[in-house]
Amino acid sequence: MKTVNHWIGGKTVEGASGNYGPVTDPATGEVTTQVALASAEEVDAAVQVAKEAFLSWGQSSLAARTKVLFAYRALLDANRDAIAELITAEHGKVHSDALGEVARGLEIVELACGITTQLKGELSTSVSNRVDVAAIRQPLGVVAGITPFNFPAMVPMWMFPLAVACGNTFVLKPSEKDPSAANKLAELATEAGLPAGVLNVVHGDKVAVDALLAHPDVAAVSFVGSTPIARHIHTTASANGKRVQALGGAKNHMLVLPDADLDAAADAAVSAAYGSAGERCMAISAVVAVGAIGDELVEKIRERAEKIKIGPGNDPASEMGPLITAAHRDKVASYVKGAADQGAEVVLDGTGYTVDGHENGHWIGLSLLDHVKTDSDAYRDEIFGPVLCVLRAETYEEGVALINASPFGNGTAIFTRDGGAARRFQLEIEAGMVGVNVPIPVPVGYHSFGGWKDSLFGDHHIYGNDGIHFYTRGKVVTTRWPDPSEGHAGVDLGFPR
Ligand code: NAD
Repeated sequence: MKTVNHWIGGKTVEGASGNYGPVTDPATGEVTTQVALASAEEVDAAVQVAKEAFLSWGQSSLAARTKVLFAYRALLDANRDAIAELITAEHGKVHSDALGEVARGLEIVELACGITTQLKGELSTSVSNRVDVAAIRQPLGVVAGITPFNFPAMVPMWMFPLAVACGNTFVLKPSEKDPSAANKLAELATEAGLPAGVLNVVHGDKVAVDALLAHPDVAAVSFVGSTPIARHIHTTASANGKRVQALGGAKNHMLVLPDADLDAAADAAVSAAYGSAGERCMAISAVVAVGAIGDELVEKIRERAEKIKIGPGNDPASEMGPLITAAHRDKVASYVKGAADQGAEVVLDGTGYTVDGHENGHWIGLSLLDHVKTDSDAYRDEIFGPVLCVLRAETYEEGVALINASPFGNGTAIFTRDGGAARRFQLEIEAGMVGVNVPIPVPVGYHSFGGWKDSLFGDHHIYGNDGIHFYTRGKVVTTRWPDPSEGHAGVDLGFPR
């Protein structure tokens, strides 16, 4: 069986705790790999390596950093398929989807290649007699990233490229469910010339996470995962004096107005609800049909959903793969099984689905629930599987009120041909990322990604300008170079007026 070990100081470091976690191929249900689970002492050793590396990396020139980042970009580009294969083998998503995740992560490396422009400070000359003021931004030191299973390459790349471009050193704690992609990313960074200790990968579970949150030498923590853990990370890391951004779960709504192109809306709903088997934090999990279009829209979604081909992620014919674990599959199924009792009409029931020749895989088919009640479990919880809920609203206002009543506020979308309604929606909706006729409005790398309410704890979104701000701290330098010919001003105890 393959073993995934830590990557510390530019090399593989074997796990020393004696604890390992199982990594499963979701398409077969077989345990293919074991991943080392770090103890608090091993986490400390990695942080010490990163702290040591910061002494020189934090002082390195921007030219030296961008040289590495450009080389890294080229290596990632050349290894897209290899990274995607690792993702599919442990996460289960189809290869094309895994390639998309690599591409979106690469976008942040490209942003980091331009750090020279992003890190330019500000200068005000002659604010007073011979006085200039400069604002500069400096790295924080050692920063940590804790990432979820659903994007094992992209989410780490939302974090470390910008963190190291800003001069920090990084300790990444990836999901223990699909750990291999993270090691590949770190190996390639070393190959690109990133000095040893600048990017370290420590595998583990709650023990490793809590050790990072408590560590006095960790200056900041970026977290992406579920809402309960995001809340724990934010509370604990903040109490320990760290800067923290903690992105949580979601329930993303798509509001479809009566004037929308219903075929385009149905295409978008099916792609956004069932892509990656619904295991995306920006998946559409609730469609709100406004006015009398509900029945027609549900029928169009059903027709399309029934045609989706489910199978192993490494089969080019598959459009949707399995879920991450059997336990998660059973939990997702329980929402579908309980839906009718809680008032929903089950239009498609994906439970009990299996793929011939892969009977032990974590399969589930596509489910479509109509007339879902807002107080039902299927609506209230983030299911994180291929289950789409449809709700009905009489008016635009009722639809917006329904969406705004959700405790989550990650992404949302409106489908309409009415520019005025779309404009109102942008301003009135309580979510961090809004799509107008775009179902999954993930911002491009040079904007920032983040939700509102229970979808993000902290005040920085991730990557883009917010990312650079998060990984640096500001300093303002006020300088006077007096002209000796003017003599000394003398003592003045007053406050400058
Ligand atoms: P998770 O919260 O279970 O795990 C995330 C990370 O936290 C992992 O590294 C895990 O090892 C660690 N962790 C788990 N339990 C912990 C505990 N009790 N104490 C300390 N650390 C712990 O999330 P997941 O199941 O891996 O990922 C799916 C979730 O992530 C979904 O809720 C999804 O919406 C969310 N997500 C959010 C975004 C976003 O940008 N908002 C992006 C991707 C995923």
